Amino acid sequence: MSLCRICGGTVTEFVEFGRQPISDAFLVPGRTDGEYFYHLAAGLCQSCTMVQLLAEVPREMMFHEDYPYRTSESASMAKHFELVAKRFLETELAGPDPFVVEIGSNDGVMLKTISDAGVRHLGVDPSAGAARAAERAGVRARVDFFEKTSAAAIRQADGPAKVIFSANTFSHIPYIGSVLEGVGELLADDGVFVFEERYLADIVASKAFDQIYDEHYYLFCVRSVRNLVERYGFELVDVEHLAVHGGAARYTVARPGARRPNAAVAEFLDREASLGLADLATFTQFAANAKVIRDDLMTLLRDLRAKGKTIVGYGATAKSATAINYCGITTELVPYVCDSTPDKQGKLMPGSHIPVRPPAAFSAPYPDYALLFAWNHAEEVMAKEKEFQESGGKWILYVPDVHVV
Ligand code: SAM
Repeated sequence: MSLCRICGGTVTEFVEFGRQPISDAFLVPGRTDGEYFYHLAAGLCQSCTMVQLLAEVPREMMFHEDYPYRTSESASMAKHFELVAKRFLETELAGPDPFVVEIGSNDGVMLKTISDAGVRHLGVDPSAGAARAAERAGVRARVDFFEKTSAAAIRQADGPAKVIFSANTFSHIPYIGSVLEGVGELLADDGVFVFEERYLADIVASKAFDQIYDEHYYLFCVRSVRNLVERYGFELVDVEHLAVHGGAARYTVARPGARRPNAAVAEFLDREASLGLADLATFTQFAANAKVIRDDLMTLLRDLRAKGKTIVGYGATAKSATAINYCGITTELVPYVCDSTPDKQGKLMPGSHIPVRPPAAFSAPYPDYALLFAWNHAEEVMAKEKEFQESGGKWILYVPDVHVV
């Protein structure tokens, strides 16, 4: 039994994936000694309904100078964030001299549009390599963890923020209470805190077990987010469903009474009740589904290799760490994974030590099958790699079920 990081309630474990490496800790060949492992398991808080991990990886081990993830590697995500920025510029940031802060600004894709419009901004991200890339794009960045103390320092230096934005970061932060206290310090009285995160309802529906890994400390739904923000003196005033990353939600939070809540909040809450997102049985089934996917995928990969077929991994994603290490995929089945991120190329995948090779390796020659770890970008990837299918290649996907296209 564990205690909830948010409310202190009882967290009941519903799935465990065993010994796992840090999902974005790619290794230099020949220097694999001392690799860090932790026990990956997730549970449901019986009180506030937040789904959360049971073990925490120290934050400096995940987010540092060499953290390799770059938002701009995905053209569709870059476009998505450009539209987010434009919408802010037309709405929340339309007044005189607004200030916007992004938590987890990474290589600055969202803030670049804000910066180009001449609006005061600050990106906060502890990963110095990513922050430098943001600065090269003309974005003002602070290499730091956003929490209560850093937020107070930003308020002191720059004044209140009209908008605090965060994408795919807020749920990565176990000390989420300190982040909300920081938002309380920094947010203007009429400001909004807007964050986008993978949506638990989509994770459950698509059986996306690989969305559970070290960085995804919490898996949000509207109910658990509402409980969370109310505990820290905020109100959830809007929710929108997003198609990105296999299904996400954008939450808008304000100080109580500052904004009129949109009807969408109540609608989402009703729908979540009917989906059983606060019921342990839903998650017990989710864990059973993960086992079926693991067994089906391993059977398929072994059968294909027995027939002499070649299989290559596509996308050295963080979530592939869970898929590869939970399923037990080895270099005998998948000799390498192709990825477009320069910082991952030439390195070894965490845990499995499968080599990562640049995209050029994918077509030289094409494999018979490609196992798509970046399934959340399936449309973008398949369009980019049209020639692979035209030359007879087939994609293997494993959510919501193992299938070949
Ligand atoms: N927002 C980008 C996106 O959606 O593509 C980046 C998401 S990336 C998965 C998470 C980012 O959050 C990383 O760049 C990481 O360094 C940053 N991060 C982690 N903890 C943070 C914290 N406490 N404050 C600010 N950024 C943090």
